[in-house]
Amino acid sequence: MESTDYTQLDYDKLKKQLSFNFAENKAIKDLQIKPDAFIPVLFSLKFGGDWSFKTSELEAMAVKEKITRYNEVEEEGYTLERVTLFVNPILISTEGKVLRLEKCGTKNERELVERPFRVKLDAEDIILAELNPAAMEIHLERIKGPLTFEGSAAYGVSHEMEHLAGGEHTGKFIWEFKYRVQG
Ligand SMILES: [Zn+2]
Repeated sequence: MESTDYTQLDYDKLKKQLSFNFAENKAIKDLQIKPDAFIPVLFSLKFGGDWSFKTSELEAMAVKEKITRYNEVEEEGYTLERVTLFVNPILISTEGKVLRLEKCGTKNERELVERPFRVKLDAEDIILAELNPAAMEIHLERIKGPLTFEGSAAYGVSHEMEHLAGGEHTGKFIWEFKYRVQG
């Protein structure tokens, strides 16, 4: 009977989701981290991208890097997602200036912003979360700072630190650019 099959599938899915949530809570407990501090990691793993979160007690930010491991002989691979969580991050230094267009989740247009090429930062606590799509595993590990990021991850750090500081970036928009046709 179709309706029974459907219910069975729903039930199996719900059961998996519940046990996933249970494992998630256990991981948070095992790591001895405040659940609020872990929120940006969950968002980054579930919805992708970089996230920051702030309460009256803490600031937390998660920055995602993607690393593709590809075997040229086998012609197959996977994209590893490395999410670094910083609890109460402290920016140590920045290097360089890069102009780029960025789209923030809270805005509906891309903006021209300036980001450092390299950033060095530390935090009260740093957790590394590595999602491996081939093994279907999320590896969690506490690591020591300070850490240095460059390129995309550095732009992400700068963007999220700005959110935590509460500063609103007001850059230029695409409609302020000029078209130049080679003629
Ligand atoms: Zn943003």
